[in-house]
Amino acid sequence: MSALASTLDELQVSNGFATSLSSSFYTLLPASGLREAQLLHANEALAQRLGISHELLHSPAFLDVLSGNAPLPGGQSLAAVYSGHQFGVWAGQLGDGRAHLLGAIDGPDGAQELQLKGSGLTPYSRMGDGRAVVRSSVREYLASIAMKGLGIPTTEALAIVTSPVPVYRETVERAAIVTRVAPSFVRFGSFEHWLGHPEEMQSLLHYVVQNFYPALYEQSEDHAELARLLLSDVTKRTAYLMADWLTVGFCHGVMNTDNMSILGLTLDFGPFGFMDAFQANHICNTTDQQGRYAWNQQPSVGHWNLYRLASAMTTLGATPETLNPVLQQYEGWFLERYRENLCRKMGWQEWLEGDTQLVDDWWRLLHRDQADFSLSFRALAWAEKHPEAFLQCFHDQDQARVWVDKYRVRLEADPQTTAQRQHAMNAANPLYVLRNYLAQQAIAAAEKGDASVLSDLFTVLSNPFEERSGYERYAEVPPPEAQSIALSCSS
Ligand code: AMP
Ligand code: MG
Repeated sequence: MSALASTLDELQVSNGFATSLSSSFYTLLPASGLREAQLLHANEALAQRLGISHELLHSPAFLDVLSGNAPLPGGQSLAAVYSGHQFGVWAGQLGDGRAHLLGAIDGPDGAQELQLKGSGLTPYSRMGDGRAVVRSSVREYLASIAMKGLGIPTTEALAIVTSPVPVYRETVERAAIVTRVAPSFVRFGSFEHWLGHPEEMQSLLHYVVQNFYPALYEQSEDHAELARLLLSDVTKRTAYLMADWLTVGFCHGVMNTDNMSILGLTLDFGPFGFMDAFQANHICNTTDQQGRYAWNQQPSVGHWNLYRLASAMTTLGATPETLNPVLQQYEGWFLERYRENLCRKMGWQEWLEGDTQLVDDWWRLLHRDQADFSLSFRALAWAEKHPEAFLQCFHDQDQARVWVDKYRVRLEADPQTTAQRQHAMNAANPLYVLRNYLAQQAIAAAEKGDASVLSDLFTVLSNPFEERSGYERYAEVPPPEAQSIALSCSS
């Protein structure tokens, strides 16, 4: 591996998005920096993967970049345009209203784009102020590492900086910037934006295929066919992502098409939540009164969003007759991944006849009992040898006993040894999740300039399967007074 850069000038910076696409896709403009910015926390492992040394990461020059006060040398700073459907309704043009793409750093994983979030007004800010508050930024920063730690595709976060600049929400809060990292921030809504504009749509298609799905060119160079092939890959990735979210109890909260990544990444952490007490129709966003984006609605919303992407692709000459069969594969892919995930969580080497019933009964048990999502799964590893200990997780132990008896019979059909099974289950059922009340504690401390809780959470969430001594409190269910933290879209 090549040496890590110790100055900004040593970074390999490229501008694939800006140079491959015409100026109608974005507005070039610098970020509006935050004054008196301080680095609250940085992701050292991600920095290393980008070729950034510890020394550079913590340098004043890099802080200027992270706080929007200096450009990334060699990068073209821009805000991108996109459109989208919000809560099922066409919202028209949106765009990076408070984000600036700085350029991409070419590292061992290929070009990774750096994007500041909360970096000031852009032509797409509409009524917004271009800023993000410490509260929402800490949540995005921690959610990014939580997803990464769980092995779920996600945008990442390199750093979070805070500043005394006031931001007006329900109360006066302080401004922060998170630096997000991903191969691309192109969304379903980026395609929807060019509905009826074949020239731009073709450019976008080629940009995305060339950079992120290059194997598709081996199958076709025809636009309509490439669109179909791309839709197929995106459908599969989205179906897998929905299964991944579901099986860790994650609720995104704002699954608008402008928040759906064309790479199948978890994108835009707002009023998201990892469930504590299980409720199948759990809603994590108080703005979503109808429960459109409730936990158990996410798979069907993912599918609905793919239909919006497919509609945009008709501009490329693709027809509903060719696209619909692709979209109809969604459910099969979702189920494939859902079963794969549940096999690992349940300790089964493969999915057998009857498992659907047993798993559905499990969900019902958790729902009726309002049992803790993550700790109930984690406790499954004891059910075989210590069923009585397992039953302690439930209020209604009689109901749980009926289920666990069936589960233990099922394990007899599994070829693994108990030790193998337990090991595999502990590598699939996290002990630590980003519970809202824990995020809240990290925020409260961060708002006073204390990054210790944030840092502890970052540590456990980086590898949420590994039990760590000294961090016991981060594995606990919320205390009664913190059980119903309500989150709005305000960020
Ligand atoms: P979100 O719900 O965070 O995905 O944002 C939806 C749209 O609103 C995007 O175009 C954002 O860029 C924009 N937006 C959200 N908050 C702000 C803000 N404070 N200032 C400017 N634009 C914003
Ligand atoms: Mg968004």
